[in-house]
Amino acid sequence: MELLKEKIRRQGKVGAGNVLKVDSFLNHQMDIKLFNEFGKEFKRRFADVEVNKILTIEASGIGIACIVAQSFDVPVLFAKKSKTKNIAGEVYTSRVQSYTHGRIFDIIVAKEFLGPGDKVLIIDDFLANGAALEGLISLVKDSGAEFVGAGIIIEKGFQGGGDRLREAGIRLESLAIVDSMDETTGEIVFRDEK
Ligand code: 5GP
Repeated sequence: MELLKEKIRRQGKVGAGNVLKVDSFLNHQMDIKLFNEFGKEFKRRFADVEVNKILTIEASGIGIACIVAQSFDVPVLFAKKSKTKNIAGEVYTSRVQSYTHGRIFDIIVAKEFLGPGDKVLIIDDFLANGAALEGLISLVKDSGAEFVGAGIIIEKGFQGGGDRLREAGIRLESLAIVDSMDETTGEIVFRDEK
């Protein structure tokens, strides 16, 4: 998506540890006009599938998912990150290794909001190693709902998670795929520009 790539080129900052900072429009301040374009683009890319629920993960995914959901006219469910080891109640849970925070946490959703008959599109801001997405897909499968695909705003292709999941048959659409980035020069190279 050219509009997004242009925004990343202009405003993205390459930080230490292969972290791309896009706080000016995605992860802190949010560009809602741009989010609306994400919604239209995902609606176009997933035009052939039926979606009745969007699933994301707190915190950065929520704002994006809410705007994208307007294009699909469906509710948004977000997985909560839980610090407690013993989770009580009727929930589905899955374990995720956090890329940015370098720790393991559990993600949970209440059983009452996800189950057989749901056709779930997962939306998230970043895909790096793929752990967050795998955790979300596992929740969907545990619930008996159908996973119809995943829409990612920025995939860091050089970390391999996206390609691994595609090879495993996961339907995955990323609006921008970063193939390399250089902390010293700040240069960012996108996949289809090679
Ligand atoms: P994964 O589980 O695919 O390794 O990482 C995905 C999660 O880590 C995303 O939900 C996102 O919050 C975070 N993340 C991974 N890489 C980056 C990055 O370069 N920049 C930002 N802002 N978040 C990232």
